[in-house]
Amino acid sequence: MEKLIITVALTGNVPTKEMNPHVPITAEEIARDVRRCADAGAVLFHVHARDENGRPTLDIERFKENVRAIKEVAPDVILQLSTGARAGKDWEARANPVRLLPEMASFTTGSNNLPGIVYENSPQFIQFLAGVFKETGVKPEIEVFETGMINNALYLQKKGLIEPPLHFDFVLGAPGSMPGSVKNLLFLSESIPPGSTWSVAGIAQAEIPLATAAIVMGGHVRVGLEDNLTLPDGSPATNAGLVEKVVRIAREVGREIASPDEARRILGLDPAKKDRILSRID
Ligand code: ZN
Repeated sequence: MEKLIITVALTGNVPTKEMNPHVPITAEEIARDVRRCADAGAVLFHVHARDENGRPTLDIERFKENVRAIKEVAPDVILQLSTGARAGKDWEARANPVRLLPEMASFTTGSNNLPGIVYENSPQFIQFLAGVFKETGVKPEIEVFETGMINNALYLQKKGLIEPPLHFDFVLGAPGSMPGSVKNLLFLSESIPPGSTWSVAGIAQAEIPLATAAIVMGGHVRVGLEDNLTLPDGSPATNAGLVEKVVRIAREVGREIASPDEARRILGLDPAKKDRILSRID
């Protein structure tokens, strides 16, 4: 089995300090959490941006601030910027984080219901965003909420818009979407092409059980307050505390933890692209 890549979804668009006081909102808070999580064993960071009122934003200057703050305290970690839609539906604005040239960005290849909204990714938008990934050479993490999103990604690969090896993240247990069961995780992990890599992001109470399943199945793990605000005992989680828990579980079953460079090799990331983002954040 390859070493375990631990991703942290630090902030997301939905969590607030009222829901959990540990949610990092400002660039400084986000960078501090990245450092703590990296010290605990995480290597890949899924990053959103918030405005001065703590609301989700696609303002590219806010993304830049977050990147600058993270690069200062944790220059070696892999950054994955969000292209999600909760902060706005404008196509260009959603694509702009990819144009900052992070090593990775998220890419949801389909639509589904989430609490209170339709998470809309039309075929036209998917094709457009795939074109931006191709132009920039940024590696997408394909966010899979439903099985059809795998097929859509394979279609884009066939069209030459995204290149193998593909990396999938199975987001399971979101209300309105695919339930967070091990059966579903097994089905999805067996539905992707050989040579692909995958991680699982279990939502809420599904987070730690599905992370545990992925550890023994040979997949990778995403945890973090974007996906889950509480520990299994119901107490408020912290990003670093969730990483520490995953590392403990992995150690107990003999799965080693990947360093940033080991994760780059496993994901097929070109090390030469590691710092392209620095030229875009000045
Ligand atoms: Zn996200």
